[in-house]
Amino acid sequence: MKTNSIEDEIKNFPIQEYSFFKSKDVVFSDEVRDLCEKNTCGLYGTSWACPPAVGTTEECRKKCSQYMDVFMFTTATKMKNSYDVQGWLDARKEHEKLTDQVGRVFRENYENLLILSTEGCSVCKSCTYPKDPCRFPDRMYPATEAYGILVMKQAQVCNIKYNNGQNTVTYFSMIFFNRS
Ligand code: SF4
Repeated sequence: MKTNSIEDEIKNFPIQEYSFFKSKDVVFSDEVRDLCEKNTCGLYGTSWACPPAVGTTEECRKKCSQYMDVFMFTTATKMKNSYDVQGWLDARKEHEKLTDQVGRVFRENYENLLILSTEGCSVCKSCTYPKDPCRFPDRMYPATEAYGILVMKQAQVCNIKYNNGQNTVTYFSMIFFNRS
C-alpha cells in the first residue's frame, strides 16, 4: 500500500494539513472558472498554467476524471499584517517549493500525475506562452482555479481548514494520481 509510504516520506515536510480522497469528490464550479475568464487576477492568457492554455472547463474536468485519487495539502504562513505583500509572495514561493518536493515523492511512486497549485506559474522570469512550448512542463502546475475547482468547498469536503487564522495565508495544492 503506497499511501503509507507516501505518508512516511512527507511526515517531516512543512505541510499544514492533508487529505487523500477520490477524484469523484472534487468540487467543480463554473463560477470559479468564470472569474479566470474575467481576468480578475490579471494572469489570464499569460502562461501555460492559466486559461485559455489549460483547455476549456470541460477539458479540465475530463483530465481530472482520468484519475481515481487525489491528494490535497496546505501550507499556512503567518504574515506580519494584512498588508504584508512580501510575506505573501515569500509564502507562495515556499509553497511552490514544497509542491515540487511532494510532487517528487508522488512521481517516485506513481506515473503520469496531474499537479495543480496556486495562481499562474512563476517558474521562469519570462513565460514562453504562447509562442513556444513550456520549458518545464514537469514544474508547471496550473492553478486549481484554472481547473474550475472551488477550493473553499473542497477544503470542507476534505476536512481541511480553508483559513488558518488572522494574518495567515493558506495555500493549497492537489495531486491527481492512479494507485495502480
Ligand atoms: S514553466 Fe516557464 S514556460 Fe512553462 S508555464 Fe511556467 S513560466 Fe511558462
